[in-house]
Amino acid sequence: MPGRGKPTAALPEVRHVSRRQKISHGVARVTTTKGRRISTSIAGLCALFRVRTDNPELVQAQIKALSRQLPLLFFIGFVNTLAVAWTHYGVAPDLITIGFPVVTAIVYSVLGWTWVKTRYWPLNHADACRLLKAATLQAPVSTAASLAVAVVLFQYGDAYAQGHVVFTVGVAMISCIFCQMHLRPAALSATGVTAIAFAAFFLSTGRPVFLAIALSMLLVLAAMVYILLVFWRDFASMIDFQKELGATQLENLRLANLDSLTELPNRRQYFSKLHELLRRTATDKRRFVVGVVDLDGFKSVNDLYGHTAGDRVLVEAARRMRDVCHDKVSLSRLGGDEFGVIVDDDLDDAEIHALGVRICDVLQAPFVLPDGVVEVSGSVGFAAFPEAGSTSELLYERADYSLYYAKHHHRGRPVIFSIEHETEIRKFAKLERCLRHAEIESEISLHFQPIVDVQRGATVAFEALARWDSPELGRVAPDVFIRIAERSDLINRLTRMLLRRALAEAKTWPDDIRVSFNLSMRDLGSREAILNIIAIIEASGIATNRIDLEVTETALIQDFDQANASLQSLKALGVGISLDDFGTGYSSLSYVRRFPIDKIKIDRSFVREVETDESCRAIVKSVIYMSQTLKLGCIVEGMETRDQVRVLRRLGCTTMQGYHFGKPMPATEVLAFLETADWSWCVETPSFHGAPLRAV
Ligand code: C2E
Ligand code: CA
Ligand code: CA
Repeated sequence: MPGRGKPTAALPEVRHVSRRQKISHGVARVTTTKGRRISTSIAGLCALFRVRTDNPELVQAQIKALSRQLPLLFFIGFVNTLAVAWTHYGVAPDLITIGFPVVTAIVYSVLGWTWVKTRYWPLNHADACRLLKAATLQAPVSTAASLAVAVVLFQYGDAYAQGHVVFTVGVAMISCIFCQMHLRPAALSATGVTAIAFAAFFLSTGRPVFLAIALSMLLVLAAMVYILLVFWRDFASMIDFQKELGATQLENLRLANLDSLTELPNRRQYFSKLHELLRRTATDKRRFVVGVVDLDGFKSVNDLYGHTAGDRVLVEAARRMRDVCHDKVSLSRLGGDEFGVIVDDDLDDAEIHALGVRICDVLQAPFVLPDGVVEVSGSVGFAAFPEAGSTSELLYERADYSLYYAKHHHRGRPVIFSIEHETEIRKFAKLERCLRHAEIESEISLHFQPIVDVQRGATVAFEALARWDSPELGRVAPDVFIRIAERSDLINRLTRMLLRRALAEAKTWPDDIRVSFNLSMRDLGSREAILNIIAIIEASGIATNRIDLEVTETALIQDFDQANASLQSLKALGVGISLDDFGTGYSSLSYVRRFPIDKIKIDRSFVREVETDESCRAIVKSVIYMSQTLKLGCIVEGMETRDQVRVLRRLGCTTMQGYHFGKPMPATEVLAFLETADWSWCVETPSFHGAPLRAV
């Protein structure tokens, strides 16, 4: 045959095979689809008789409903049994009319009690499933037993008694379905058993009345089964819906109590935990501790590196703190860079302190960001229940006070609220009250402290420093009352009054003597306050290049943009800007560069140890060098001894301020001071650098 054995010859065969396969596949598909449909239907039918254990909520809801309905069913069953036994007593054997009710009473009481119990002693999921399965098995068995007895009794009674049996079986059947609606397999199997037995029995009698009864009963049963199936579907989906709703609500609740950035509990949860602990202490007087952690220097991370970097620091800080908190310590983020701590443990002060130190230590380690490495630190304030307070507000307030205290006295360390703090709070409150009622015009005055150019041997400026002589409290230190005034806009009033006076005094001094005036953070934080300051400077008539305004780093970081705008407008007037207390904050070079600053004033804390501490000398020396590089003026504060002056002079410093040159003095003494002061000895002390620093 042509082409036989060639590849083309294989084609018909292939086609043939493929047709056969197609046919056989087609048959198989028909068979498979049919088979699948049948098996699906069988599976669906079996599922109707299976107890659903996959949904614990559904199981518990079934138990709850059945615990009320089944005891009722048992009661109805028992009463019916009793009634039928009574109408057949003496006619039917005693074994049935007495024995069966007794057995029924015992069995139904036990079963009933089993279900009633679940109302008071809830079952776990496994036990609940077991009970449902047992009830599903028991339903057709007890129905079959009752029907068997009914069939037996039927033969003994007259027509009335037989009617009673038929009526009882009907009632039993209806109550079986209704009371077991929450257990579909039980209701269906009991109904099935009844229907089959009932129909078979009555049909077997051949009597038209019974045939009619059987028929109508079967129709009623069919309708009831339909109702049962619909009811069960609705019930199961209602429970599923409730479960979903509950899960959504739970998730919403979780989110409402969570800080999305750090994933720590948020402020709301912190306070609800605090309230919860206080409620608990009504019965149990156990000590617990409330803490507040605040990051020092965090603001400048945001300002310098942006908010994404700030967020990274917060997340990392939260992680580090979580790592050092044991399970009795809960950590929350209260907002910004403030974290809350609740220690639900009876720790003594030493243990609380140790926890605080651990928290501070982990915060001190550098934070590595994509744009560089930043350093912040953290201070912690603690307040313990019941010593520090018995309400959540008081405890939080005192923990916050301890934090404030830590920030001012032990930055980067923990402070636990104590009696001394309590005394201080009272003192502070009294000061605040007095300051609010003070006649500030007459009670608050200015003193002036000289600033000396040791290279030229001349006084070059005076710093104006406020003094409050309260009739009630005596002299109050300015850092104390300024801090209080800064809590309200009283500070703006004070600044305006003092600036007017300082400029008026400076106008009476020789033209080459400058005046340096301290501004507070609230002065820089509002446009209106700055406009007032500008107006006062302009109205004073003094040359603006004789004025220096001192600002602190803390004031600048409160509101970076506003502070910068404020400084720019002051600078535009021609006044100089000095960064006060340099070295006490988080002064970074780039930070200094971002503000229009002319001078830095090295804090006196560096001078105190400059003679004895080598590293302190190294720091001061590098700051002086840095100021030279950045073309900034540099003043060293707190010079108290001639030796300090010598050391600083050698380190390259040319402008100094301190008690050694003169304590702050009343305005009336300034001119006399200028005439008598002689700094020629300073000039003789050689400068280490040789190169003069920029004149102030
Ligand atoms: P400050 O601006 O750093 O002022 C320098 C403080 O150091 C002054 O304290 C001064 O008396 C003190 N001092 C100067 N030389 C020495 C020294 O050699 N040794 C020691 N131990 N101290 C020295 P004062 O006058 O008590 O002022 C304290 C702070 O109060 C000031 O610190 C400043 O921050 C604030 N302050 C004072 N007056 C005003 C004001 O009018 N407005 C504002 N906003 N703040 C003011
Ligand atoms: Ca100052
Ligand atoms: Ca200072």
